[in-house]
Amino acid sequence: MTKLFRTLDDVNVEEKRVLVRGDLNIPYQDGKAGDVTRLQRLAPTIKELVAKKAKVIVLSHFGRPKAKGEVGFTLFPIARELEKVLQLPVAFCTETVGDKAKAAVAALKPGEVLVLENTRFEKGEEANDATFVKQLAELGDIYVNDAFSAAHRAHASTEGLAHILPAVAGRDMQSELSAITKALIEPARPVMAIAGGSKISTKLDLLKNLSARMDYIVLGGAMANTFLAAEGKAVGKSMHEADMLATARDIRAAAAKNNCTFILPVDVVVASECKAGAAAQTVDAAEIPADKMALDVGPKSVAAITEKLRTCKTIVWNGPMGVFEVPPFDAGTKAVAKEIASLTQAGKLLSVAGGGDTVSAVNAAGIGKQLSYVSTAGGAFLEWLEGRELPGVEALRIQSDKSRVSA
Ligand code: ADP
Ligand code: MG
Repeated sequence: MTKLFRTLDDVNVEEKRVLVRGDLNIPYQDGKAGDVTRLQRLAPTIKELVAKKAKVIVLSHFGRPKAKGEVGFTLFPIARELEKVLQLPVAFCTETVGDKAKAAVAALKPGEVLVLENTRFEKGEEANDATFVKQLAELGDIYVNDAFSAAHRAHASTEGLAHILPAVAGRDMQSELSAITKALIEPARPVMAIAGGSKISTKLDLLKNLSARMDYIVLGGAMANTFLAAEGKAVGKSMHEADMLATARDIRAAAAKNNCTFILPVDVVVASECKAGAAAQTVDAAEIPADKMALDVGPKSVAAITEKLRTCKTIVWNGPMGVFEVPPFDAGTKAVAKEIASLTQAGKLLSVAGGGDTVSAVNAAGIGKQLSYVSTAGGAFLEWLEGRELPGVEALRIQSDKSRVSA
């Protein structure tokens, strides 16, 4: 694979001041941290830099503060959480740039770690303002971007810095880029995408882009209901988008031209209400009763998906097959998840999953660690699937080839 991004392997960091853009934007409420996955993903880059005797300066946004110093938006408690994850001392500076920040950086010894205050406390961050970028750049010799999840934003700490300091991808960024390259840009074929979830109107660009790249697209969730309705089937009270039928037909026709086959559910699980333990029944996808809603794909659909999946080498998954939060409507999503996990574990399939609810569904099925890659990047992952360029990634690209992605 052609190398298009510089990584930690390409820079000498010993005794250098290294500005690491991480994503410390974790859930935090009432003095308690929620899911610290993002800190765990950042840890390998920081530890490697520490081991290589760099002076590590971590930059991140935290929430959406309206003004500098707004209560509840300081990164101080998150620096403490990072300390726990790293099991290393982490210093904190109450300023992001300026004299205090300069002094804190000057006090760093090789192998030490410092977190600077929330980048979004400074107006220049979101404006990607040249003066602020310069102030940040004065604090470091090398820039490491390890925040793929913030790469869809062209902010000072996610994009601007890469233009004025030597810039490389951190290890987590590198993993994201390599997973997406293998799943989307140059996949081993046949390659399948699963597109599920609730609304096609929020995933039109995603469907269009995937139609041009995939061999098969499996539709599930409420999205599938819209495609069933577009075929003229009655969908009863199922969640669907009645104003999207023509669009759904257009997408399908365009996909067919690209030799991309859509796989729709052949049977669905219906109920009168979407409640845990509600009386559910499996019906043919053409026979959804007028007073019921389709809340999951049925066993015949799962069997058809599984059979096709076994012929594939690559899968990219966004969107659950049904209302996975409410049993028994979690069965389809879980069955598909388990099949993907076992094919991956057997070395037959490269699997990449992402999206807020998809990550929850994959974890609820207990197979998060059995896929090739699970992206926690949310919005940035979806923008990749839509085929958009991410400013934070583009700025890291080695200039000679802007046409393709690889890590
Ligand atoms: P992601 O966050 O991974 O991108 P989405 O937000 O598009 O995924 O979709 C997830 C949501 O879709 C879940 O809340 C799930 O309950 C809902 N959903 C899936 N299938 C159905 C269905 N048949 N009817 C109603 N909602 C559904
Ligand atoms: Mg969602």
